[in-house]
Amino acid sequence: MSLPPQDIRNYSFEELTAYFESIGEKAFRAQQMAEWIYKKGVWSFDQMLNLPEQLRQKLSANFNLKPLVIAAKQVAKDHTTKFLFDLDDRETVESVLIPTATRTTACISTQAGCKFGCRFCASGIGGWSRNLTCAEILTQVLHVKEEALKHKRPLCNIVFMGTGEPLDNFDNLFKAIKIINSHQGIGIGARHITISTVGLVPKIKELAKQNLQIELAISLHGYDNASRNVLMPVNKKYPFDELIRTCREYARETKRQITFEYILIKDVTCTENAVQCLRKAFKGIICKMNLIPYNPVSEFEHKTPSQAEMETFKNRLEEFGIHATIRSPRGREVGAACGQLRHAHK
Ligand code: SAH
Repeated sequence: MSLPPQDIRNYSFEELTAYFESIGEKAFRAQQMAEWIYKKGVWSFDQMLNLPEQLRQKLSANFNLKPLVIAAKQVAKDHTTKFLFDLDDRETVESVLIPTATRTTACISTQAGCKFGCRFCASGIGGWSRNLTCAEILTQVLHVKEEALKHKRPLCNIVFMGTGEPLDNFDNLFKAIKIINSHQGIGIGARHITISTVGLVPKIKELAKQNLQIELAISLHGYDNASRNVLMPVNKKYPFDELIRTCREYARETKRQITFEYILIKDVTCTENAVQCLRKAFKGIICKMNLIPYNPVSEFEHKTPSQAEMETFKNRLEEFGIHATIRSPRGREVGAACGQLRHAHK
């Protein structure tokens, strides 16, 4: 039995170059090919007109460059567009195009399912299946980019806030990020790429050493150890204080500010007690706090606070010097909160 052809998007530039050299081709073929795939967005080798016909045939026979199968596509009134893609092994992943007045963002998944079971997130409900490959990560970006271009809104921002935990798929993620970031690839600046994590302490330390200009967002969601234990089981492994300490070190080592994501759940996280705890925990930390109104998921009993409650919470944090913004919910009617579309299609 022959193996299915390898997806060419799993190859780094170095690997592509080495491949072309190994078949007696010039190294610049790698550059030409990357341009077709990542800049011009073609989905087949036949379209790569500056490659000799014979080479195109060889590539078609040996590699795969096909698009993902779009299982569902939903467009919200605010033009937020959510894709559900089928993968080759019947797994599915979600990606979202989020256009705002100032920028166009792609929200990308890194795993099929999620291991971490946060008690407000739809992604963890069906458990974890597997890591996405580098090619599967990049292909989501290519689809969202294509959609953005249809609307004449070039893609300028990537957030790894889709299904799964990016830092739990470190190698494939960084292979993909290199191509997303490179001028030869998709060409999105590191400062426009955000990795969001549940707070895997050893991986955050590893990330600090990479010396990249990438944005780091921490899903905090709890205001102290006990509340975070309940909302995010991962806190039992990497407790609140250790996480905050690691973030302080990260900020010091990288000289980069961290964004903390904090979900606003009525009577749970959106309280004066929470304000006081956060005030203590964040003393002396310069950061941004992104307050995210809870988007209801039927499996959980939480409620979204009123607008007035959320504003009070934000203002109280600001009074204590914690810079906070309330994220305006987008694409609600297309279930654009993490994992909702994928979960609904099970
Ligand atoms: N595993 C990573 C990447 C996923 S991003 C992480 O946890 O950071 C997940 C983000 O989606 C969370 O930070 C949270 O802000 C958001 N989210 C998940 N479920 C939500 C819900 N029901 N309502 C609002 N935001 C939600």
